[in-house]
Amino acid sequence: MSDPTPAAEHSATIRRIGDIIQSHQSFLLLSHVRPDGDAIGSQIALGCSLIAIGKTVHLVNEDGLPENLAFLAGSHLVTPPPVDPIGVDVVFALDNATESRLGEAALKCAADRRILVNIDHHVSNTRYGDVNLIDPTSPATGQILYELITALGMPLPPESRDAIYVAISTDTGSFQYPATTARTYEIAAGLIRRGLDVGAINSKTYDEHPYRRLELMRALLNTLELSADGLVAHWDLRERTRVELALRPEDSEGLIDTIRAIRGVQVALFFEELPGDEGKIRVSMRSKDRRIDVCRIALEFGGGGHALAAGIRMPGPLEAAKARVLDAVRRAVDSAFTD
Ligand code: AMP
Ligand code: MN
Ligand code: MN
Repeated sequence: MSDPTPAAEHSATIRRIGDIIQSHQSFLLLSHVRPDGDAIGSQIALGCSLIAIGKTVHLVNEDGLPENLAFLAGSHLVTPPPVDPIGVDVVFALDNATESRLGEAALKCAADRRILVNIDHHVSNTRYGDVNLIDPTSPATGQILYELITALGMPLPPESRDAIYVAISTDTGSFQYPATTARTYEIAAGLIRRGLDVGAINSKTYDEHPYRRLELMRALLNTLELSADGLVAHWDLRERTRVELALRPEDSEGLIDTIRAIRGVQVALFFEELPGDEGKIRVSMRSKDRRIDVCRIALEFGGGGHALAAGIRMPGPLEAAKARVLDAVRRAVDSAFTD
């Protein structure tokens, strides 16, 4: 027999996940460390839908709930990992490309699971689940979950509805990035028809920044540099600034879009000294040009993501990490423009 088409395989995987949901009672939903709107939104969306059909559900994130997403109804359900394993039948890993990015403590509390279901849209996903529903053409895991929940005829309570909207909106840069499709807008329209208050939810997502985020922006602007004839822009955040401004991890979320938006810039990078004694550096990368695949660059350094948005966690110190990554970026830019 020939291999099933990707569409047929996708539908079969959705049916399989439906069977798993039906035949089990307890579920633990995880997402990646330093969770963003898609990670937490996906946890709440699927979690509240499962609760609505009477399942026992735990929502755990290695780093807990970021303050900027606490407005989401249902967000109080997201907790940091307890010390002991949570005895559950099924674990869902959402919006997470590699198993280790779930975090050590989160993985430990998932140790007693019988089945691991991996639902994600990262092209670099390693298919580490027993069941893998991976769609790299989807702009957000929240969009895959909308399709899953509706295909299986599961309920979409207001908590799930709002969480899916925030997941999609934040991962598409407010429905702007190239991965946004007609289907993405149709889903948003469907959510509005189900009662979503679009003005209120956008206001809570985008108009409620703490003042320290602007102070962070000021500090970052002081480090901004252009290179490669204006094709590459980068800025960095040092531990000292983090402490001085009492920053939280989520405060920098989305700020990279400011330098990505500079005319002529094709690649934007954000380098950040992470707290802790390991001296690790977090790198965020954005590309505006399909010929410069930042996921490929990230993979060289053990990171991952998407072609136009990717990230790395790598050894420091900051200056050494910057030199290595910027060198790889400039090589990619050179070859993109000389081919
Ligand atoms: P960020 O720059 O943190 O917004 O991440 C951009 C994209 O790359 C997101 O889809 C992340 O999930 C992914 N990503 C970020 N850091 C990593 C990493 N260390 N490993 C794999 N994927 C990552
Ligand atoms: Mn994410
Ligand atoms: Mn995502």
